[in-house]
Amino acid sequence: MTDPALVERVRAAADTVRGRIAAAGGDPEVVRLLAVTKGQPLEAVHAAVACGLVDVGESYVQELVAKATDDGPGQRAASPASPAPRWHLIGRLQRNKVRQAAPFVHLWQSVDRLSLAAEIALRAPGARVLVQVNVSGQEQQGGCPPERVAAVVEGCTDLGLEVCGLMAIGAQGPPDVVRASFRRVRALADSLSLPERSMGMSGDLEAAVAEGTTMVRVGTDLFGPRRVEPVVGK
Ligand SMILES: *Cc1c(COP(=O)(O)O)cnc(C)c1O
Repeated sequence: MTDPALVERVRAAADTVRGRIAAAGGDPEVVRLLAVTKGQPLEAVHAAVACGLVDVGESYVQELVAKATDDGPGQRAASPASPAPRWHLIGRLQRNKVRQAAPFVHLWQSVDRLSLAAEIALRAPGARVLVQVNVSGQEQQGGCPPERVAAVVEGCTDLGLEVCGLMAIGAQGPPDVVRASFRRVRALADSLSLPERSMGMSGDLEAAVAEGTTMVRVGTDLFGPRRVEPVVGK
């Protein structure tokens, strides 16, 4: 059984997040809420799905696969009627991990180079992807440089992938800097006629809403602090 108290906590937290989205001028019909469960136990996934948050994000392939394949008693008892989560891969991705993740991933959000796109096209033909763009200048966060986005998008399309939009991690800094980074994503997506803009996290979702995000990725403000070590399985 998913702990009912946990489900209620997540539900209340999700309501609060939706309230913030609305207060920032976001249309709840447009801005979707991705529940980021990295560093959280499997129960967090169950609780999210029980609250109707079926889009779930993970950063590490190993953790995603472990959670997606857990068919232990906890999983089965969670709620036979609840839908399966739709897994989004949002972390930096190595090519050699693609095959393992391919059976489970609904949307690949961190595609930032064509060698990676080619592997995804091989292991999951026609998959839905977002091209991650680096607007923060922080290299370790991944993402292709803004000036490469058009080429990567075109290359993905040529590989038969369905490019739904762009994903970005906001810049850190004062509010105007954060917003400017999201504005850049929006301008790029507009110029390429890409509808989806996955941007905004717990700490900066208002700025992302103000710049037209279509999907905020929220972990901490739904589930509390993460465990330091990635949680694999339960
Ligand atoms: C961890 C992570 C998030 C969620 O971050 P929070 O600050 O916990 O909301 C969103 N996007 C990406 C790419 C992440 O790695």
